[in-house]
Amino acid sequence: MTKRVVLIGHPVAHSLSWAMQQAAFDSLGIDATYEAWDRAPIELADAVTELRTDAFLGANVTIPHKERVVPMVDRLTEEAHNTGAVNTITREGKRLIGHNTDVPGFKVALDRLVGKQKMPRQAVVLGAGGGARAVVYGLITEGFQRVIVFNRHLHRAESMVKHFARSAAHMELRAMPWHESIIESELAKTKVLVNATSIGLTADESPIPAESLNGDLLVLDLIYARTKLLRDAAAAGCTVADGELMLLHQGAAAFTLWTGQPAPLDLMQERLAAARAGGLRSAEGEPAGDTATAEAPAATAAE
Ligand code: NAP
Repeated sequence: MTKRVVLIGHPVAHSLSWAMQQAAFDSLGIDATYEAWDRAPIELADAVTELRTDAFLGANVTIPHKERVVPMVDRLTEEAHNTGAVNTITREGKRLIGHNTDVPGFKVALDRLVGKQKMPRQAVVLGAGGGARAVVYGLITEGFQRVIVFNRHLHRAESMVKHFARSAAHMELRAMPWHESIIESELAKTKVLVNATSIGLTADESPIPAESLNGDLLVLDLIYARTKLLRDAAAAGCTVADGELMLLHQGAAAFTLWTGQPAPLDLMQERLAAARAGGLRSAEGEPAGDTATAEAPAATAAE
């Protein structure tokens, strides 16, 4: 029987994950399909219940469900428990296990961004959703000493900081209100800036004014595209990276969890690049922009 893996999000219209995961299944002769399920928050519990049958190897969970899905699985791995967010689900019989492969994906992206320099100790994070949780946990475990989180709704950043109170006991982890002047003043004191908001995903907008950016910053946008933030940052002389490596490595780790086999990383990277060049976009990070008219591959229109 052909097994199924689904990407549950809202929206998930055209999936870059499909391009890399389906190619990986096919190249290793694994009889499985990767499908996109667009499910509004109210439909999430039913979608998760469906995964409990033999037909499914598991799932990916993306924007905006990564935190909401946590109580819907039967067990959490240490990383999923510590972050309070799940992006990958595997099945053991009827039991569902929640994992967070965004954490190792983020660490690969951070390492590549920092390159040969000494790992910095200060960071500013924009956003407090599921992706931001993986980022903040990654920064804590990487040994950062000061991490400041800004979010449109301050209470969400505050509850994330509270969630990490124990793991961040040795360092300064603070939520601050989203005011341009406060962000600019914090950026002047930091080395790493991570955009974990979805600003830039569906419109060519930046979360912060270009003038806030100084050329010493290392800037990572989790969105898999050359966003306005990254263009502004590059123009200011910053070192920049988009979400490609994070997307690739979270996907590779998820593939291994579902199949028990090492992921064909080069092939997956090639397929991601081709899908991007071909105009596909996804909830994981490609803004609509001029790609909006691209055809979705048939397999993503799973429903
Ligand atoms: P999420 O849980 O829905 O969180 C969305 C975040 O964006 C929240 O902090 C939200 O702020 C903020 N936001 C959304 N619209 C906003 C607006 N108009 N103004 C200000 N803030 C806004 O989503 P997520 O799963 O964390 O994903 C966030 C982004 O990271 C997405 O673009 C996603 O594609 C990307 N991502 C990429 C990867 C990768 O592998 N490259 C992995 C994970 C996530 P509020 O809380 O105030 O609403």
